[in-house]
Amino acid sequence: MDNCIFCRIIRGEIPSKTVFENEHFKAMLDIGPASRGHVLIMPKEHYSNLFEMPEALAAEVLPLAQKIAAGVQKAFQPAGIKLVQNNGAMAGQSVMHFHLHIIPCYDGTEVGQWNPGSPSGEELDEVLAAIKEALA
Ligand code: AMP
Ligand code: ZN
Repeated sequence: MDNCIFCRIIRGEIPSKTVFENEHFKAMLDIGPASRGHVLIMPKEHYSNLFEMPEALAAEVLPLAQKIAAGVQKAFQPAGIKLVQNNGAMAGQSVMHFHLHIIPCYDGTEVGQWNPGSPSGEELDEVLAAIKEALA
């Protein structure tokens, strides 16, 4: 998919903060995080949404989310972690390449339909290093 922003990230045409990758998936920091440690998991092949994904690939998503979320939990000790996966514009999907959000929820901060943050590169690097260390 030439114009898909996540495909372009996967091809290395656009930089990203990768916390983890394996043969089929990449996990990176969300550029407009709902909270500190917000991560996106996406397949390396383009599928627009959950319904387009082969079942075997979809079955890999939750175990991977479990692993990454455990790293986020270890790194930042949020009070909770929300997994969100939007399908279709009306569901809030803005990037039409399947992705699962891992969103840490901290005491006193409600994460509903979130307003994107705008962290600096240094702040994102700090978050990246903490999660990578927790996953190592
Ligand atoms: P959704 O609304 O579920 O489609 O979520 C798309 C997410 O992708 C949003 O949370 C954006 O902040 C995030 N996003 C968009 N462009 C980038 C990018 N270049 N790098 C990292 N995250 C991005
Ligand atoms: Zn794509």
